[in-house]
Amino acid sequence: MNKNIAVIGSGFSALSAACYLAKNGNTVTIFEKNKTVGGRANQFQKEGFTFDSGPSWYWMPDIFENFFKDFDKSVNDFYELDKLSPAYKIFFSDDTITIGDHMDKICEEFERIEPGSSIPLKTFISTAQTNYDIAINKIVLKPGISPFELVTKDTVTRLDQFFKTISSQVRKKFKNPKLISTLEFPVLFLGAKPNNTPSFYSFMNFADFGLGTWHPKGGMYEIVKGMKRLAEGLNVKIKTNSNVTKIVTHRKKATGITVNGKTIDFDVVLSGADYHHSETLLDESDRQYSEAYWNKKTFAPSSLLFYVGFDKKIENINHHNLFFDTNFETHAQDIYDQPKWPEEPLFYANFPSKTDESMAPEGKEAAFFLIPIAPGIEDTNAFRELYFEKIINRFEKRTNQKVKNSIIFKESFCVNDFIEKYNSYKGNAYGMANTLLQTAFLRPKLKSKKVTNLYFTGQLTVPGPGVPPALISGKLVAGLIKKHHSN
Ligand SMILES: Cc1cc2nc3c(=O)[nH]c(=O)nc-3n(C[C@H](O)[C@H](O)[C@H](O)COP(=O)(O)OP(=O)(O)OC[C@H]3O[C@@H](n4cnc5c(N)ncnc54)[C@H](O)[C@@H]3O)c2cc1C
Repeated sequence: MNKNIAVIGSGFSALSAACYLAKNGNTVTIFEKNKTVGGRANQFQKEGFTFDSGPSWYWMPDIFENFFKDFDKSVNDFYELDKLSPAYKIFFSDDTITIGDHMDKICEEFERIEPGSSIPLKTFISTAQTNYDIAINKIVLKPGISPFELVTKDTVTRLDQFFKTISSQVRKKFKNPKLISTLEFPVLFLGAKPNNTPSFYSFMNFADFGLGTWHPKGGMYEIVKGMKRLAEGLNVKIKTNSNVTKIVTHRKKATGITVNGKTIDFDVVLSGADYHHSETLLDESDRQYSEAYWNKKTFAPSSLLFYVGFDKKIENINHHNLFFDTNFETHAQDIYDQPKWPEEPLFYANFPSKTDESMAPEGKEAAFFLIPIAPGIEDTNAFRELYFEKIINRFEKRTNQKVKNSIIFKESFCVNDFIEKYNSYKGNAYGMANTLLQTAFLRPKLKSKKVTNLYFTGQLTVPGPGVPPALISGKLVAGLIKKHHSN
């Protein structure tokens, strides 16, 4: 199979697909509109601080290892991975919970909060582990073409877990609200509310407690650098500052792309840009999904982000910190039900320099703060500043220290930036949520139903949001292209 293939975008899914396509003998060129590769996983340096601007949680290390193994390589060939101990800390209004790097430590912490709770925790995680094996080693590797992909002995015997929610299952086993929040947290990565996420997705709890939280030395961008190196080694050509403005078709067949004003012919076009945006690059008659279709979908939240450099070490915090000290349900309603700025949002604070001294100058601390918000809501400087004040005041109170006067650098990123920088639909941060009705074959398809030789990959198609799913999405679409174009 030697096809000339254009890949639009250079996020994890596009980089992954490009590597597999090149390995299969194709000539592959990536066109990325921005000046660096990696998509939402970006990194910048300011005044000696290093900030990863997108993903920060390295979960499911097996998926990264399997990716590199497909090219006879290992993660260690590209970056150094540390298991974080503890994994993370959750701040509530009257206490904190620290999640250790091993089930024994986590059980101890659960017992401290609710005596006896380690027993249901062990059974919950044991089910989660079985689900992880089924989901990650079987279901997720299907291309989402037909409902029958989901009908297996494993899934049929667990059908109830697709119709019960993670929220109801957790609440059945645990009564303490802090433990409930702790166990509902991992599915937030899938982009929907726990009470709208099937309990089968408890495999995320195994990813959390069973497999642990890791950190690539030098930051998450090391993964991108590694994948870029791998792609270049496979002769993938990478063109940055290359904005694609048109997917060219002739009689319902993709024949090329227009990039920076010039049309170039290709045999196959694969877009790893946001699916909605990719379809706008087509004539309207070639698009599969209407604006009404996208508008009805549940999108993962957007985010208000602050990258902050502090001129001192910050106390009482870990590498990853969740501030669950306000009402989750109220905040979730403001994201999903009646989109608006949340009154008192939950937020996440990332301090990579706590475990990786390369991320900040000596004696200083690099941080980023993330507030999940509804995609598409009004984004102004006034809102950004108002919300920084809200969270930094709470941060000071919960961690028992003054930090505001120690800020030497602060930059924000929000809805408007997601749209401008990534062509993101409504400024979503991490794609389309994995609700029951937006899972597998119910998601936008990897292959266009209207235009031959046109494919899609990324967090709006299968399997869903997050870095590990993006790696898998690239593998799936490359597999489909191989199947359809081997002659
Ligand atoms: C703030 C934030 C925090 C996150 N945290 C985590 C986390 O901790 N762990 C985790 O696993 N996941 C996390 N995620 C999700 C994860 O980053 C994404 O799911 C994943 O990176 C998406 O990859 P992708 O390939 O689908 O798309 P993207 O990374 O969005 O890549 C799409 C690329 O296409 C380019 N593009 C768009 N239009 C064009 C065009 N017309 N021409 C050329 N190029 C174009 C864009 O510039 C971009 O580079 C986070 C995301 C964000 C934003």
